[in-house]
Amino acid sequence: MKILLNKTSLTESLRQFRDIGFVPTMGSIHKGHLSLIRKSNQMCHKTIVSIFVNPKQFNNKKDFKNYPKDIKKDLKLLNQSKKVDFVYIPKFKDIFKNNKKPKIKMIKIDKILCAKFRKGHFEGVLDVMDRLTDIVRPSKIFMGNKDFQQLFLVRKYLKRKYNTNVIACKILREKNKVALSSRNYLLSRENLILASKIVRKLINVKKNIKNKKNKNKYLSIVKNDFQKQFKIKIEYLELRNVNNLKLSNTINSSRLFVAYYLNGIRLIDNL
Ligand code: AMP
Repeated sequence: MKILLNKTSLTESLRQFRDIGFVPTMGSIHKGHLSLIRKSNQMCHKTIVSIFVNPKQFNNKKDFKNYPKDIKKDLKLLNQSKKVDFVYIPKFKDIFKNNKKPKIKMIKIDKILCAKFRKGHFEGVLDVMDRLTDIVRPSKIFMGNKDFQQLFLVRKYLKRKYNTNVIACKILREKNKVALSSRNYLLSRENLILASKIVRKLINVKKNIKNKKNKNKYLSIVKNDFQKQFKIKIEYLELRNVNNLKLSNTINSSRLFVAYYLNGIRLIDNL
């Protein structure tokens, strides 16, 4: 596994390979990331993982400051996986300096779910994904369905500019059903037990929703109940179509999307 600290060394190392699989991450590597890496390793000749906590996608400074970082542990996990050929760990200026890119503006229909609650977040995500793709030039990018809206928007945006396929990978969960996430490192044991209760209840809600006439009205009642019962703040709980992310009143091709705060930590999931 070769560590690349800037785009000059990256370009030199990758130039000779054509079939490159790319797994962009913000570090704090967990089994969810490793599942993406395994997929890339199966489908591509070489696999490169990036670790970059992109300040531009944080709409809240405190959230950026508190985001878990442990590069030593990350490198150990990636190395142990034996599935990573290159790790790219750029500095901010390596990605953003001397490289003008068009300003990204979200269109109205995309200002839903996380885009509605995290102003500027996806503009920051799309900007960094544009730059990283430009630098790495992968044939495939592996992203998790855990961040479904992110994957949806990145795929739509990159399709116009690059000859790169964005491959969607399934959500990895703990035994207690909580989706793996770097932010889980910020949660206490009690928080994680509560997160598990919430996700299990949501799995039941997803089952029950079949019989409900007005599904999103039912979800707004469930949302209020959950907020009272678990003393949490839920930003959204919505059933949406996976192909266009429009609100849905059928369970076909639809997923239940949720974002909520647990002890000040924002968690998202979809089922
Ligand atoms: P992050 O480091 O949180 O930005 O995540 C990097 C990539 O890993 C994104 O494409 C995420 O969707 C994906 N990912 C995060 N958590 C999971 C999970 N539990 N299962 C599968 N993929 C995940």
